[in-house]
Amino acid sequence: MTSQLSFEVRPNPQARSTAERERVLEAPGFGQTFTDHMVSIDFTEGEGWHDARLEPYGPLVLDPATSVFHYAQELFEGLKAYRQANGSIVAFRPYANAARFNASAARMAMPELPEDTFVESLELLVQTDREWVPTTEGHSLYLRPFMIATQAGLGVNYPSKTYRYMVIASPAASYFAGGVKPVSVWLSTEYTRAAPGGTGFAKCGGNYAAAFVAQRQAVAEGCDQVVWLDAVEHRYVEEMGGMNLFFVFGDRLLTPALTGTLLPGITRDSILTFAADLGLTAEEGRLSIEEWQAGCESGELTEVFACGTAAVVTPVGSVKGADRAWTIGDGTPGPVTLKIREELMGIQYGSRPDTHNWVHKIA
Ligand SMILES: *Cc1c(COP(=O)(O)O)cnc(C)c1O
Repeated sequence: MTSQLSFEVRPNPQARSTAERERVLEAPGFGQTFTDHMVSIDFTEGEGWHDARLEPYGPLVLDPATSVFHYAQELFEGLKAYRQANGSIVAFRPYANAARFNASAARMAMPELPEDTFVESLELLVQTDREWVPTTEGHSLYLRPFMIATQAGLGVNYPSKTYRYMVIASPAASYFAGGVKPVSVWLSTEYTRAAPGGTGFAKCGGNYAAAFVAQRQAVAEGCDQVVWLDAVEHRYVEEMGGMNLFFVFGDRLLTPALTGTLLPGITRDSILTFAADLGLTAEEGRLSIEEWQAGCESGELTEVFACGTAAVVTPVGSVKGADRAWTIGDGTPGPVTLKIREELMGIQYGSRPDTHNWVHKIA
């Protein structure tokens, strides 16, 4: 892929040694350590995107009045580079991330980035720092593209006239320590993540800033994760923390429909698409917390799992709310959840055929 922008390459003279890198790759954690380089591209109103570069990873120097610090005009993406058994490095559906990046940008009054430039920026960083892509099965290089408003000044009447797009990369183990251990969830009826007309469908930091207090409450209630409900009735299930939810009724999957308040997950979309390959039916719809509880009690609702790039497919074992609590199945990972997890990771790591053409070779 080529785009009009050409990237200037400034190699890092202080790149870490093989020994240092291998020490990190032994136990990478999640989002703790970053590779030797990063990508930056600047945008100026009237001029467009310019100064595309790959440069040493390092701190930014920004005026304290920079817009992003005050008004949170910011968005991000998240995807992974996987090392397949044959040695090649691939990304999973990077053009879907490019399209979602631009959908978020439109909502946040920020400039769109050509999709080819987005993908090229990932390719350049991963190719340069390819030694940082873990070889351990289940590990990956997490890629974090993001964009910030960089104009200095406190005026609030107009969006920033300048922006910076960046990509950083971090070797990642499994997101939740302990692998496919089921998580317990807290139904948040006190707080709302997103309301109609708001930014729920955009991958912007503000959604997360507003969510931390509810996540903290979930932990105080003895749960691992928060489940968001609709803003109006606090009754219909939307998503779990930073992941989408699927409800399993035997061989039928149900996931909350994209109403504008949910983040349109690429993992969610992939599962909806490949379900039929596994002999499952999948539909988008609506589920209330009463239906969730009743379905578990009658045995009709057999499994629930959350899905997203970082934690792949994670079973939900139990549910707690202000006035109710119940277990899903027997609280252990169910066969449909495990089958979907295996299929998805199989495509990403190359042990299953890529029948939907989702795997994008990088190196
Ligand atoms: C990123 C994200 C997801 C999952 O999206 P994927 O593309 O599958 O990684 C789900 N919910 C929220 C709130 C998110 O930010």
